[in-house]
Amino acid sequence: MNKQKILIVGAGLSGVVIARLLGEAGYKVSVVDARSHIAGNCHSARDEETGVMVHKYGPHIFHTNNEEVWRFVKNFAEFMPYINRVKSTVNDKVYSLPINLHTINQFFEKALSPKEAVEFIEQLGDRSIDNPQTFEEQALRFVGKDLYEAFFKGYTKKQWGLEPSLLPASILKRLPVRFNYDDNYFNHKFQGMPKDGYTDLVENILKHPNIEVSLSCKINRDDIKEYHHVFYSGALDEWFGYQEGRLGYRTLDFEEIREEGDFQGCAVMNYGDENVPFTRIAEHKYFSPWEEHDKTVAFREYSRECGEKDIPYYPIRLVGEQSMLRRYVELAKKEKNISFIGRLGTYRYLDMDVTIEEAMRAARAFLAAREQGQRVPVFFVEPI
Ligand code: UDP
Repeated sequence: MNKQKILIVGAGLSGVVIARLLGEAGYKVSVVDARSHIAGNCHSARDEETGVMVHKYGPHIFHTNNEEVWRFVKNFAEFMPYINRVKSTVNDKVYSLPINLHTINQFFEKALSPKEAVEFIEQLGDRSIDNPQTFEEQALRFVGKDLYEAFFKGYTKKQWGLEPSLLPASILKRLPVRFNYDDNYFNHKFQGMPKDGYTDLVENILKHPNIEVSLSCKINRDDIKEYHHVFYSGALDEWFGYQEGRLGYRTLDFEEIREEGDFQGCAVMNYGDENVPFTRIAEHKYFSPWEEHDKTVAFREYSRECGEKDIPYYPIRLVGEQSMLRRYVELAKKEKNISFIGRLGTYRYLDMDVTIEEAMRAARAFLAAREQGQRVPVFFVEPI
């Protein structure tokens, strides 16, 4: 039996998946989290008044192409069928997202067939843009000015606080454009929602005799000495006392709406107009379509620059941040017995399935390194 002690900082998906795999391998694992709950930003809890399962840090929809990840999560929670279908309100009209044949026909008041729509959109796209680098170029190349301005420009400016001409094309590449009526927001093979919420899923992952969890517990350098290895899923810059500056994040504010019956009739309604100050409204009972609730609770979501006291959500990763990130990576590589993991530890925009997949790889790489007497990597995935 391996009695080595491992510390995992952060009880979000990265930390708990590693905790589980190392616990199963016989390590003694302590998981600590500064917050008073497990599950990080996918934490969910039932709303007292309505009984609705609320995603406390905004909508989380599980989707993946990775069968192993899908099997892993289904081992720890029952997953209910769920397809994310998002609408967008633009200029007082409601459209279907992601941009699909319905959106194109609604928007241009046409009745195009798939083939006609391909031709039509191609002729709207700016073909002088060969190799789109920015969000704006990507949009103009593939959907043209009108759809870009209606659905992407305002939303993106609100979400990122920046002109889309300054953002990388990769952000938009997350969203498909379809020439049929498929309005499933995701292209992945597997999609679903944990029946009793994400916190229940995470709690089950942590249920192992080799794992202990401490909440409301902030860790600093001196606390880690007694451990053989530390997996740190907190913010990379925070670990180094922000000595190179603060890596930029966007944070979110939620404004609660409570009503009898229904509020908007769907889970997520985006707002494309720049003059509407929020980006979207999520009505959480629609994330559990198998449940029935008489009352409803929804949240308007506002994005803004993340201040010192705020919860970081989306890493910005622009040019300035890239050079700062490089300096933090250099510092990190001088550390011993610590690995930086996950969204905050590697400063990347990660979906839940990728987070789990990377955590599995990290745990396996750790076990292999230990077996071969090699040094455990500081990063399992390079942040740059
Ligand atoms: N986006 C947009 N309009 C929309 C939805 C998304 O312009 O109606 C852009 C926006 O820049 C956003 C990105 O596409 O940050 C990725 O969207 P996604 O829905 O994947 O964002 P998330 O749910 O992760 O916030």
